[in-house]
Amino acid sequence: MNFRSPFVFKSLRPAHISPENWQDWKWQMAHVLKYKDDHIKHFGKLTNDEEEAFDLHQGLFRIQTTPYYAALSDSSNPEDPIRQMLMPHKKELQNLGQQMKDPLGEERHSINERLIHRYPDRVLFLVTDMCSVYCRYCTRKRFTGKLSAFVRTSPYEKSLEYIRNNKGIREVILSGGDPLTLSTSRLEKVLQDLREIPHIEIIRIGTRMPVVCPMRVDEELVQMMKKYHPIFVMTHFNHPQELSLEAAEALTLLVNNGFPVMNQMVLLNGVNNHEALVQSLSRRLLSLRVKPYYMFHCDPSEGTEHFQTSIQNSLKIQRELWGRLSGLALPSLSLDIPGGGGKVGLTPQFELERSDSHSRFKGWDGFEASYINPFPEDVIDPFLSEEYLNEWERLKNQSYGNQNAADLGARHQNL
Ligand code: SF4
Repeated sequence: MNFRSPFVFKSLRPAHISPENWQDWKWQMAHVLKYKDDHIKHFGKLTNDEEEAFDLHQGLFRIQTTPYYAALSDSSNPEDPIRQMLMPHKKELQNLGQQMKDPLGEERHSINERLIHRYPDRVLFLVTDMCSVYCRYCTRKRFTGKLSAFVRTSPYEKSLEYIRNNKGIREVILSGGDPLTLSTSRLEKVLQDLREIPHIEIIRIGTRMPVVCPMRVDEELVQMMKKYHPIFVMTHFNHPQELSLEAAEALTLLVNNGFPVMNQMVLLNGVNNHEALVQSLSRRLLSLRVKPYYMFHCDPSEGTEHFQTSIQNSLKIQRELWGRLSGLALPSLSLDIPGGGGKVGLTPQFELERSDSHSRFKGWDGFEASYINPFPEDVIDPFLSEEYLNEWERLKNQSYGNQNAADLGARHQNL
């Protein structure tokens, strides 16, 4: 494949591993690094803090990485961004500050152990708890990697039944765990079952496989998935160093087969919290036709305090990029209200003052001017046919999950 992006490089395959094995996702999954010795073999030497994390790791979030992803890091540099994302660290054991088992409040919005209905028109379906790499900053540590299994028959059927019976659900987001760790036939069964439900318009697949095991995205997979369009693929690249030639090929295969690909990055302290890195990642992704979609704050899940950035830090990054980076390449900065309040957008402050008559702004490069409002009586509603109004009323009145959860959450936070 020919890439317009000048940035792509190939992963460094160790000489004793054949190119066929390296390119085989099942080989990658069967040869994951799990134990301290595996990591010493690959990285040569661990730091004292890393060693200690392995020695004390009882109760730590599961440890696992693909040989491919480990090979993207500079094994001699303990501060390498990829190493920080995959390697356990003693700091994970310090439970300081705001640390939550379930920072997104998903349990309060769960229909059953695998289905979360937080927003009116969409549900999150946790089809597996398995990942190929367990990212140290994972937001769903309470669930991910605990059983290593596809959803059991009973919650699977109950989830489908719930989706079937709730006609206001338009979108199903497959997540976990990582849905692309499932076999192609198992994933096809899920897609087939969902496509038999007439009111499901969009299926999203949230996956980190194009980042940590891009060989998973092969012809067989995309030919199967394209039978169930429209499917959006939500990737999770956090750093330009993750965009290898193999990853670029996987993304191109997806885009060429009609899958819109959107990237959701997480800002991680000491890993990628600098505008130079975000712009580099975003431009490279865009040149591969991947839309940089969200730039999330790291959620306060247990053992992640050292990864969290301040709101001031994130807003500074967003402000630096605003105007300098094309709107297509600029991800939206967003934060999940801890405890399950849903997403809120964070935007740098450009508005200097606001009154009934006008707002005054100072733009990204210092230009100042006012926007004058029309007179209130001149603001009129557009013509709306019944069809649009009814559709809107249906969405507004659509029930979702445990709607008392918002009140419960507010009360909980105020205690
Ligand atoms: S791939 Fe996603 S679900 Fe799995 S460990 Fe990483 S962040 Fe968590």
